[in-house]
Amino acid sequence: MTKSIEIPTIELSNGTAIPQFGLGVFQVPPRETYENVAYGIQTGYRHLDTAKIYGNEAEVGQAVRASGVPREAFFITTKLWNDEHGDAVGALKASLGRLEMTHVDLYLIHWPAPAQDRYVEAWQGLIEAQKQGLTREIGVSNFQAPHLRRIIDETGVTPAVNQIELHPYLAQAGLRREHADRGIVTEAWSPLAKGTVLKEAAVQEIAERHGRTPAQVVLRWHLQLGNVVFPKSVTPSRLEENIDIWDFELSQEELDRIEALDRGERTGPDPDTFS
Ligand code: NDP
Repeated sequence: MTKSIEIPTIELSNGTAIPQFGLGVFQVPPRETYENVAYGIQTGYRHLDTAKIYGNEAEVGQAVRASGVPREAFFITTKLWNDEHGDAVGALKASLGRLEMTHVDLYLIHWPAPAQDRYVEAWQGLIEAQKQGLTREIGVSNFQAPHLRRIIDETGVTPAVNQIELHPYLAQAGLRREHADRGIVTEAWSPLAKGTVLKEAAVQEIAERHGRTPAQVVLRWHLQLGNVVFPKSVTPSRLEENIDIWDFELSQEELDRIEALDRGERTGPDPDTFS
């Protein structure tokens, strides 16, 4: 039976409610994506985060359609890849063709790729795509503060979200402040630092105190900071574990103890140089 769980939402700039918790499908091979997403939907996931470069948009769309859950109950994000900054509208139409959807809920510039210097043009393309009704909300990913300031200054349009690498080893206090000042919602990618942070003694102790798992504690830390998260798992029991985080709360001291693990360490590429 397909579960329906009440997940907190945050209102984005164009008025769309984004569920604060969802499922990411980076590195889920297309052959496994259908089953992974289908199980996620059954378990209560409605927010799905994919990208053109993940190569699994078609399978995400198939799982959504086969679920029997109405399209309006979902929040679907996809992303513009770095080699298409000059044709965002065309790239989004191609993504929608693979998803077999009329629109997505959120479209993101995946990376600023500053060496190409086309991210302002890409942002103008996303503004146009939103005008055409191809996406309800527009945002960016992996933008540093100067990239954010530049697109806002040059177009007058503020992204609804910035999806950045963020976990206890890379707490991103500076960017989170920049987002708060500008009304940008923070989405945290690799929220579990790909699982590495779950071994930390501080996380394990806090988990034991609450009778929860280390992953649940780290996800709860994100939610209490106000981040949007979509942990990836191809393991059914972990999909269930990760979404079961609504009935406990971390104290300020516990939040601070987790934030103290910050060592400015990335698991992924540096946005200033990646293209
Ligand atoms: P996560 O931090 O979500 O970690 C995923 C890893 O943690 C997998 O190995 C998974 O294992 C494991 N895991 C998940 N749940 C548990 C659990 N309860 N206990 C123990 N281990 C667990 O990293 P991702 O890099 O996958 O990031 C999540 C999403 O963020 C991506 O899917 C994508 O949507 C987005 N993202 C965006 C990027 C961008 O540039 N915008 C870049 C990278 C990610 P297993 O699957 O084997 O269960």
